[in-house]
Amino acid sequence: MKNTLIQDFRLQASGFRLQAKFKRAACSVQRAAICFAMLFLSSCQAQELYRDNRVTMGTFVEVTSPDKRAAGIVFAEIKRVEDLLSKYKPDSEVAKLNTMGKLEVSPDTLYIIKKAKEFWVLTDGAFDITVGPLMDLWGFTEKRYYLPKEEEIKDTLNLIGSDKIILNEGENVVKFRTFGIKIDLGAIAKGYTIDCAVKRLKEKNIKSCLINAGGDIYCLGDNFGKPWSIAVQDPGGKDFLDYLKLKDKAIATSGDYEQYFIKDNKRYAHIFNPQTGYPAESGVVSVTVIAPDALTADALATSIFVLGKEKGEALVKKFPDVEVKVIETQMKN
Ligand code: ADP
Ligand code: MG
Repeated sequence: MKNTLIQDFRLQASGFRLQAKFKRAACSVQRAAICFAMLFLSSCQAQELYRDNRVTMGTFVEVTSPDKRAAGIVFAEIKRVEDLLSKYKPDSEVAKLNTMGKLEVSPDTLYIIKKAKEFWVLTDGAFDITVGPLMDLWGFTEKRYYLPKEEEIKDTLNLIGSDKIILNEGENVVKFRTFGIKIDLGAIAKGYTIDCAVKRLKEKNIKSCLINAGGDIYCLGDNFGKPWSIAVQDPGGKDFLDYLKLKDKAIATSGDYEQYFIKDNKRYAHIFNPQTGYPAESGVVSVTVIAPDALTADALATSIFVLGKEKGEALVKKFPDVEVKVIETQMKN
């Protein structure tokens, strides 16, 4: 795909806009999802930005930079990392590990699993990449949704727990303690991949670039001397909730309004509480995290979605230079 030269445009970066009313227990609940709109205001003559986009990593990825080379570098790196980490690619290391239960892996795969285990510890198990069998059971993997029976959930819970992943760092080997365990890096891989791409850009001396992978964003350097401007929008209203001026920062959002199904008037979304085996219901609609790197932003956003506002905000205090915005469900009587 070719780079497009752009001079002035307005982009809906993560195109979800939702305001829905539905009943949960006896309450009427109103949800307002947030979405990003990014404004690139390049004023005059010499300020040229190139933009390229592709559907990859299961989402729409857009690269914007004054350097023509940036998009090619980013998409090549995304392909390299996705080929290792996607559970949907039968030849990936993650797919092979999930089938065989033991594998000698590349440094990338070892690193991301190690980081995921660190988040598992930090979140008391709320962040857990062993949710793979739950994703399968509930039909999220194949997008053939299914409401499981209690019994099935109980059985599947035996396969959950990142303590069941053994890392042999000396030999680059990952091993599962129990047959049937499957890892799913959906909550952390996009962030890690963006960080890898940023590293490649820096190696090529590219100092300005904005990568947006379906709302997981990294702002490298600035936009012709000014920080990148990202507007966080409340689709419930017409106004933006916030304008963020970001430079060398990542931003990620987790919510339950993008991937879900509805059964008997109840909504079931794709982020799980690994303790219960059910989709997380912590009273959170959406979590937006700003962090120095995209892996941290991505993993923390999912973690806080599971933990809820109070515990989530306490967790964030352990991370330097991280900010969080949590939007909770509004109960209406
Ligand atoms: P998105 O992929 O929509 O950007 P997230 O970053 O929050 O949203 O990731 C959600 C994905 O994370 C799920 O689709 C699933 O692959 C995985 N996942 C679900 N529950 C958990 C959990 N408790 N811990 C870690 N990963 C999870
Ligand atoms: Mg995430």
